[in-house]
Amino acid sequence: MEANKIKLINEDNLRLDGRSFNELRPIKIQAGILNRADGSAYIEWGGNKIMVGVYGPKEAYPKHSQDIDHAIVKARYNMAAFSVDERKRPGPDRRTMEISKVISEALSSSIMIEQFPRAEIDVYIEVLQADAGTRIAGLTAATVALADAGVPMRDMVVGCTAGKVDGHMVLDLSKEEDNYGEADIPIAIMPKTGEIVLMQMDGDVTEDELYQAMDMIFEATKRISQIQREALLNKYKIQDIGEGE
Ligand code: UDP
Repeated sequence: MEANKIKLINEDNLRLDGRSFNELRPIKIQAGILNRADGSAYIEWGGNKIMVGVYGPKEAYPKHSQDIDHAIVKARYNMAAFSVDERKRPGPDRRTMEISKVISEALSSSIMIEQFPRAEIDVYIEVLQADAGTRIAGLTAATVALADAGVPMRDMVVGCTAGKVDGHMVLDLSKEEDNYGEADIPIAIMPKTGEIVLMQMDGDVTEDELYQAMDMIFEATKRISQIQREALLNKYKIQDIGEGE
């Protein structure tokens, strides 16, 4: 390792924030907290704070954007100017457009879009504070907001990131690990089938390391799915009777 490179993992195999390799940051989700939106959710994931509002399904506008076979999912990921260390210039840029696109595609796989021809479903993801992993945190909250709006879905989407830090594969990268680590791999799935709906990679890993990342993420999504589920049960004050065998 280069002498001046920041050390992200100590001798006891602990990360800068004290986590072990496969430990998640704390996650809290609240469903239905905006009165004016059709559905909403708020997520805190580590230092990330993200609000999601959903409108629709409603007639797609402009009309030429309509699809006669299915609804169009329009996710808009936006970072507030004050969400990052250096003021973020307001408005879309290449990164936010890319993230909006991959989130729209991930949600389109889970929503029963064929039930709503000519319609659109708007998903506004507002990042109030960013701390790495915002695309996955935003997507994880968006699916809760869609459920809160009563939008029919095949499954709730859930995801996490993993990456390579000081030569080790670790779960749920922190900001420092994202900035100074060797690789960052966000993945989102539909847990019932295990179908991958979002997968990206920034950096280099071997095939073995990629499978290690996937294993860690798949395991973590079980816990995150439970948090999503509890958010909805809390909102509607429903007792969790489990999904049965
Ligand atoms: N970030 C930043 N300024 C920007 C964009 C990103 O400080 O204009 C930070 C922010 O904390 C973000 C992190 O860099 O969460 C990692 O960004 P990345 O593009 O990897 O997306 P994310 O991990 O948030 O999905």
